[in-house]
Amino acid sequence: MGRIKSRTEVDESVVDWLTKIPKAETHLHIEGALPYTLLRELDPDRFPANPFFREPGYRFPNFVDFETLLVDHAVSWYTSPERYHEACKLIFSGLADQNVKYLEASLHLAIIELTGSDGHELIHAIKSAAPKGLEIRVIAGLTRDGYTEVMSPIIDSLPTWDDLDGIDLHGQEWLKLEAWAPRIWKQCQEAGKIVKVHAGEFGGADKIYEALDLLRAERIQHGTRAFEDPDLVQRLVDEDVILDMCPISNEKLRVVEKLEDHPIRGYFDAGVACTINTDDPLCFANTLSGEYEALYDRLGFKRSELAKIAKNGFRFARMDEELKNSYIAEIDSLLPEEIE
Ligand SMILES: [Zn+2]
Repeated sequence: MGRIKSRTEVDESVVDWLTKIPKAETHLHIEGALPYTLLRELDPDRFPANPFFREPGYRFPNFVDFETLLVDHAVSWYTSPERYHEACKLIFSGLADQNVKYLEASLHLAIIELTGSDGHELIHAIKSAAPKGLEIRVIAGLTRDGYTEVMSPIIDSLPTWDDLDGIDLHGQEWLKLEAWAPRIWKQCQEAGKIVKVHAGEFGGADKIYEALDLLRAERIQHGTRAFEDPDLVQRLVDEDVILDMCPISNEKLRVVEKLEDHPIRGYFDAGVACTINTDDPLCFANTLSGEYEALYDRLGFKRSELAKIAKNGFRFARMDEELKNSYIAEIDSLLPEEIE
């Protein structure tokens, strides 16, 4: 005999289902994903058990404060390729436990200048930490003012790096785009690399136009503020531009007033190809499954809609077509007949 499920029962079944479905994570900064436990082991006096910024209700006052805190913590750990390897083993096993099958992980390239490490050794350290069943693509994260004397010859050579899968522009979005960037993005795209740009997080729709028109980005990281220009939203749909969104990050950094106001609901309904991701879990104490749960709980997404978002993660993934299709089919097969 049927009966109405209590809210708790529904939630548990959704959590269970979310854990089971194969997922992709396509917006994750390795430095921002540093497991906090490693800092605790390194220096328990300097890194307290429950730092204020990982409290559930904490929100950062602004991007610069957030970035300063992130960098302070990240550089305390990431001093060598060996440290990247050790951290990535933990990060990747945490993702594998959530049934993540495909990851685009961003490496902050300036770490080469900061630590004197070799870029290829860093990439090898990251890729060799992958557990079986998790495909890793390494993306070089560049900043708008990152074309320094030391870094410029390295950045110029990126299109020829066989071990590098893509590039991304991150950091302070309001800095102007310098002439080197369109050249490097074009060369990397011609070399078959994934080309991404952080845009429309703190910057407005104009930054997304810049990413599309000057950098030919195929994936926009965030794109949260695209709604400010309805023509732009339509263009994202028409050109199948992917928004790798991070709703909890946007709430924590006050890009949105509260998660319930997040524009992902409108983008999804308009037909924009969205994925959801964690961005910097060191700072937000979030998980990929938690992002899906938040959309279900606080934005009214149904399971069938979450399944579509999970499938978007694979639809655009740079992976073997057969494997990609098998994950998409698995998501479909796990979708219950009765959709609440
Ligand atoms: Zn990001």
